[in-house]
Amino acid sequence: MRAIVFAGPGSWSLEEVPDPAPGPREVLVRVEAVGLCGTDVHVLDGEFAPTRYPIIPGHETSGVVEAVGDQVGDIAPGDRVSVDPTLTCGECRFCAVGRSNLCEEWDGSGVARTNGSTAELTVAPVRNVHRLPDEVDLPLAALIEPLSCAIHGYDLLPRRMGEHVLVYGAGTMGLMMAQLAPRAGAASVTVVDRNPTRLAAAREVGIERVLTSADDADQIGGWDVVIDCTGAVAAIEDGLRRVRRGGVFQQFGVAPADASARFSPFAIYNDEISVVGSMAVLHSYGRAVEMFAAGALRADRMVSHAFTLDDYGDALDTFRAGSGRKLQIRPQAKVSSVLL
Ligand SMILES: [Zn+2]
Ligand SMILES: [Zn+2]
Repeated sequence: MRAIVFAGPGSWSLEEVPDPAPGPREVLVRVEAVGLCGTDVHVLDGEFAPTRYPIIPGHETSGVVEAVGDQVGDIAPGDRVSVDPTLTCGECRFCAVGRSNLCEEWDGSGVARTNGSTAELTVAPVRNVHRLPDEVDLPLAALIEPLSCAIHGYDLLPRRMGEHVLVYGAGTMGLMMAQLAPRAGAASVTVVDRNPTRLAAAREVGIERVLTSADDADQIGGWDVVIDCTGAVAAIEDGLRRVRRGGVFQQFGVAPADASARFSPFAIYNDEISVVGSMAVLHSYGRAVEMFAAGALRADRMVSHAFTLDDYGDALDTFRAGSGRKLQIRPQAKVSSVLL
């Protein structure tokens, strides 16, 4: 099969590699779409510590089952599926207490040790393969993996009705966190981004308060919930200052591992501010499939480009230029297309 291979930091190529074969409890999937994500670029740039090279990137996957192992009975060839990339040991102290996203042997296919799905075919354990309801658009279903991360983010926030939510960043994750806020009971949601193209995307998915700076919002006393989806230190420092007394700040965006941000310990103490991290997926994949099928996202306004495997370099260039919305690779496609 044809696959993108990251040989080492900064080095990638489109190669002919052997087809993967499913083990007894594994499923072989013909990849329809795979989202290109900031994590893929960190992996390519050698900035993601768990990565072992060479690796086929790609962890936001939808496709059609091609074959199944001889002990798989509940998924069959022809099923349309979404693939959870999370691989955990099931044995360490974190797995034992139900926090397997913090597993000591944590592996994400396409980002850590196991090959991912920027390829014609990919293989996954049957427990990671989720059948899609008929009404779900197959290529757009590659948004289910990031949606499952967003749902995990909300799982970690205190659940109170009628709160005001501020989201930094109108990329894919920011748009998802903002779209989920009303479903989590928010009285209002405000999205801040410096990039006007991204702010237009936020308006298109239905966010009413879309600003280039939180200074422009008339929000006396701050926000009950502030979520950083940028990983940018300036945004994080700004956001920490805008949490209302008794409120919560969530670090959702991926900052460089050596970055540090300044905050006021006095404000954390005196205003009883909670700071919560959220990493990847935990028990949220099946719910993401159901919420996606129920229309929780304006998915049709979120995917802007579909690239062929041959045009992977163009996809990387488009990503690094910060243009477009969610970019996808469609390994079965013959020509690349601009969707939005
Ligand atoms: Zn991702
Ligand atoms: Zn574990």
